[in-house]
Amino acid sequence: MSSETLAEIVAAVAKEVEPHRGEGRVADYIPALARVDARRFGLAVITCDGEAAEAGEAWAPFSIQSISKVFTLTLALERVGEGLWTRVGREPSGSRFNSIVQLEAEHGVPRNPFINAGAIVVTDALMDGRPPADAIPEIRDGLRRLADNEAIDIDEEVARSEAATGFRNFSLAYFMRGFDNLKSPVDEVLTTYFNQCSLRISCRQLARAGLFLANRGLDPLSGVQVTSPERARRIASLMMTCGHYDASGDFAFQVGLPGKSGVGGGILVIVPGKAAVAVWSPGLNEYGTSQVGALALERLVARTGWSVF
Ligand code: GLN
Repeated sequence: MSSETLAEIVAAVAKEVEPHRGEGRVADYIPALARVDARRFGLAVITCDGEAAEAGEAWAPFSIQSISKVFTLTLALERVGEGLWTRVGREPSGSRFNSIVQLEAEHGVPRNPFINAGAIVVTDALMDGRPPADAIPEIRDGLRRLADNEAIDIDEEVARSEAATGFRNFSLAYFMRGFDNLKSPVDEVLTTYFNQCSLRISCRQLARAGLFLANRGLDPLSGVQVTSPERARRIASLMMTCGHYDASGDFAFQVGLPGKSGVGGGILVIVPGKAAVAVWSPGLNEYGTSQVGALALERLVARTGWSVF
């Protein structure tokens, strides 16, 4: 790292992206997300030593959306173990996050746990036959513990909005049920999935929650071993190869760090051995990743040299 302090770097990055604020398009296929102002921006970095730096609306809650898939994957692996990999693959998809065609060719086994079909299987695995009333609080409370914040909660309006318009997710789920790759009833799995996607979290809380992945599965601030070092490494590697759907290669090229985006405009990034970073800006690029968020991360890596490459 240069001689600039972390706080100076974060402030400089926020200033650099300022002229770009508002670029991209907010997700409009989920009506409750369409109303968010695309110009909003927040950035938070927390290091494994506990140093924190932030810029913009780092404390403003936003819809976690697909970033939740990182946390449900961690929970599902803890619950059902490596057998999960017979039900979901580990290869980049090269297709949109909600694509249906690939599932037919691959007999209902989704390419990876971060495309929607894969995440729906992961949610089914962590439910393990239990009803949404058990699984949803488990996911929410797990995130509260990791983020060290009891106030984290589900935005009921977003959850309802997703359920009312989630025809594609229903199609994916019924399709997989047809291949016998879902145990629980489709409506129960999707109720849980829509609720996990509707959690509201801030950049500051999200970076805090992801820190265990930067520290070999051990939360360096609470001392809790969240998952094994091997699993933490594998989850991070999937974030690198699959975290941004059909733009994962480009994100690796531009940023070079394991990351996971969500259509709420958030991105969580892991700097192995060093830090976790969360950025939020609701305008998305054509692949569903925050446009200004990805730019901020590219600028951050240019200043810190934090790329793994
Ligand atoms: N809840 C969204 C969906 O299922 C999540 C998609 C995303 O963030 N990429 O469509």
